[in-house]
Amino acid sequence: MYPRLVIDMEKLRGNIDGVAKIAKDQGGCSLMIVTKALCADEKVVEMIASHPAVDYLADSRVQNIKKNYETIKANGKQSVLLRLPMASEIEEVVKYVDISFNSEMTTLEMLDAEAAKQGKVHKAVLMIDVGDLREGIFFQNEEEIIETAKKINDMANVELYGVGVNLTCYGAIIPKNDNLSIICDFASKIEEATGAKLNMISGGNSSSIYLVGKGELPEKINNLRLGEAFLLGNDTAYGERLEGTVDDALTVEAQIVELKEKPSLPIGEVGVDAFGQKPYYEDRGIIKRAIIGIGQQDMTADSMYPIDERIDVLGASSDHMLLDVTKADYKVGDIVSFKLGYGSVLKAATSEYVTKAYK
Ligand SMILES: *Cc1c(COP(=O)(O)O)cnc(C)c1O
Repeated sequence: MYPRLVIDMEKLRGNIDGVAKIAKDQGGCSLMIVTKALCADEKVVEMIASHPAVDYLADSRVQNIKKNYETIKANGKQSVLLRLPMASEIEEVVKYVDISFNSEMTTLEMLDAEAAKQGKVHKAVLMIDVGDLREGIFFQNEEEIIETAKKINDMANVELYGVGVNLTCYGAIIPKNDNLSIICDFASKIEEATGAKLNMISGGNSSSIYLVGKGELPEKINNLRLGEAFLLGNDTAYGERLEGTVDDALTVEAQIVELKEKPSLPIGEVGVDAFGQKPYYEDRGIIKRAIIGIGQQDMTADSMYPIDERIDVLGASSDHMLLDVTKADYKVGDIVSFKLGYGSVLKAATSEYVTKAYK
């Protein structure tokens, strides 16, 4: 059945080898592989969990961790919840998550109480915001950071496991030696204030890995959390290919349902498209237009890259994608393959209309 998301297990495994060489061997970091973009697909998680270089498996959704809990534990790995826990999921978090990221005292108190109830010790990483303005205690509020760390350290059933930072997600701020050094300084101050040694100083996601190659990752950073880097083989600060990785471990295939010569400019008064946007059209004269059976519900047209270079993406509505195939020789029923950007990986994996194939 088409459309389908094709997952090449050997290539994905190879990409983990590649990022492990950079993050672990060169960067001295533990390796946390992030599974959320593929909705923590069970087969992929099995491969990740059994990979010897992987130390932690992380996801933003507790459901994704729960469904893979047995696999993660059977392989002796730790599970990590990246999104700050919701009050409504505390019980599940304590049950299935070894380490959660936190920035709110009220949440930490709930975790402590629930962990006591379940007879467990839950590990917490304290998030510090150095300017991207998503999660974390703002770095200028030094007292709040130290006091929160001290309070966690005093909890009976929550262990202060470390500190972390997230960048290049909301604010698109690029990790550098200077902003990452802020959390390293806090780590030292917290260790001094609590007398406890922090296990994890987590220096960000796939946007931080480029610093390893430049020799600019601060010495004290000892963990990186990688999603896109292993899925698509690039860093996300500058989009450069990472040595030892490939960009076609994940592809999408869709089928041509119409193929006709038509103008490249629509005819009539231009209003707004299906998403309320005023479209822009390039006049290419009469072109051979293909419609394929996939749409914005299953991918984002601007992160679909046709493998056949003779094809240009024109755009997409909810269920139809339009291609200029003037230079190619396709017929109705043919399959078109695409490499993907992160947005399309996420949507294709999430869409129930896209089947999955493994090779
Ligand atoms: C999604 C996420 C990651 C992984 O991001 P990539 O850019 O895919 O590597 C890491 N940390 C947090 C907190 C996240 O939410």
